[in-house]
Amino acid sequence: MARFVFITGGVVSSLGKGLATAALGALLQARGYTVRLRKLDPYLNVDPGTMSPFEHGEVFVTDDGAETDLDIGHYERFTHVSARATDSISAGRVYSNVLEKERRGDYLGKTIQVIPHVTDEIKAFIRIGEDEVDFMLCEIGGTVGDIEGLPFFEAIRQFSQERPDGQCIFVHLTLLPFNKASSELKTKPTQHSVKEMRSIGIMPHVLVCRSDCPIPETERRKIALFCNVRPDRIIGAQDLDWIYDAPLAYHREGLDQAVLDAFRIEPCPKPDLSVWEDVSDRVHNAEGEVRVAIVGKYTRLEDAYKSIAEALVHGGMCNRVRVKADWVDAEVFENGGDVTGRLAGYDAVLIPGGFGKRGTDGMIAAARFARERGVPYFGICLGMQLAVIEAARNLGNIKLADSEEFALDTDSSLSDFDPVIYHLKEWVDGNSTVRRRIDDDKGGTMRLGAYKAILGPDTRVARIYEATSIFERHRHRFEVDLRYRDRLESCGLRFSGMSPDGRLPEIIELTDHPWYIGVQFHPELKSRPFDPHPLFRDFIRAAVEQSRLV
Ligand code: GLN
Repeated sequence: MARFVFITGGVVSSLGKGLATAALGALLQARGYTVRLRKLDPYLNVDPGTMSPFEHGEVFVTDDGAETDLDIGHYERFTHVSARATDSISAGRVYSNVLEKERRGDYLGKTIQVIPHVTDEIKAFIRIGEDEVDFMLCEIGGTVGDIEGLPFFEAIRQFSQERPDGQCIFVHLTLLPFNKASSELKTKPTQHSVKEMRSIGIMPHVLVCRSDCPIPETERRKIALFCNVRPDRIIGAQDLDWIYDAPLAYHREGLDQAVLDAFRIEPCPKPDLSVWEDVSDRVHNAEGEVRVAIVGKYTRLEDAYKSIAEALVHGGMCNRVRVKADWVDAEVFENGGDVTGRLAGYDAVLIPGGFGKRGTDGMIAAARFARERGVPYFGICLGMQLAVIEAARNLGNIKLADSEEFALDTDSSLSDFDPVIYHLKEWVDGNSTVRRRIDDDKGGTMRLGAYKAILGPDTRVARIYEATSIFERHRHRFEVDLRYRDRLESCGLRFSGMSPDGRLPEIIELTDHPWYIGVQFHPELKSRPFDPHPLFRDFIRAAVEQSRLV
């Protein structure tokens, strides 16, 4: 039976709770334990799939097709455990399940209430698969005191009460602000946060305190005294230059030891941290630098493309170079913007996923620049579709080539152009066929999750993957139309990866170019620091070669 660690936050948001959870998962694995990491989010959206990346950062997709929070990406990158749809839940999903049951008559005769019906639903979620691992780490989104969070805090309180002593512990993350005037770390916000936790019946066993400097002994004793937590279970967490230093930093501070002590596990297995020492060595001891321009739409917020940023770092690590990624707003290339001037000096161009027409003319201009100048180009999902449109217009002489998605966005008539990218109406998923209409609900209706693709013989991608078939994660509604295949292939744009039934183009590559690849899926979601994705590894290798040319 698993032991449960509940991770909560207080004082302010964005303290790195997801990262602390992921690092703790990695440290427990380093001691030989199996783990599963979960996120419980108090917002009312059923999942983050319909939220703007500006609001919530990237949407992370699991193998089994759930649209989840970007923290799930941290969990996977640190632990290599593939998340499942059952590892992420929101208040919206909980309420929607409860209401569905109410309509079905499952609670017939009862008045539906937050306690016990909503809290029971949350507890049932926490229990899923509990026999499969040694430790289940459950992070509660938001901070203690948030109105939406209350049912979740109440549920984990009840859960720990119902379990035998010592099966659940609580780790609480807070902030120790530095007061310049008195030159000291202030402990009062942490005291208040723990008081708030205790007022709802939860007594933290371990405190993780974010601060700008190491916690002096006097402050540590003060926190211990006022918060009723042992001094050796107060873990300091300072800002790090590289998130991949987090496991080693938390280990030095004693986080994993404090957690095992709180569970009274004795003797503790010794950790093998060699993987993280190697990862750390690679990020710190890069031997050169390459510059990659990421031309996209949500460039104001780096979290919007979190997994891409991380996958590029991984690609750099295995090539022993630092990757300097610059986020370029595609709209600067529109209406006569100077593409050549802005992109000269970059060793590679990447166009990430996205939705809607805004910025796509600029992205098409960037794709053309990379194609014509022989600069390595990596198009991901929307970035592949735009590369196809660009090639169709400028190589294939299909002047009106465009995507149905943009026509819908601008209300222009479909008959005005050649829809080389069309709305996907059906596809095969396992043994069944999924059907979609353009006016379907927006939530959860895309082609989502891991699908197989067959790589063509003698293609660049088959060499990079060293495989003939792959599984990659998808999140898209539109697709390259096969009717244009012959025309595009005759101009050198090869369809090098296809769905097993041969109906959906999955990868395109330019044969006469140093590195020009577009993929309909999201390879960044499967890249890990200790196991970089082959496409990112090779893309950065090509960027290194390009950097030697200029
Ligand atoms: N908007 C495009 C589609 O739905 C691309 C999606 C994406 O980049 N994830 O097909």
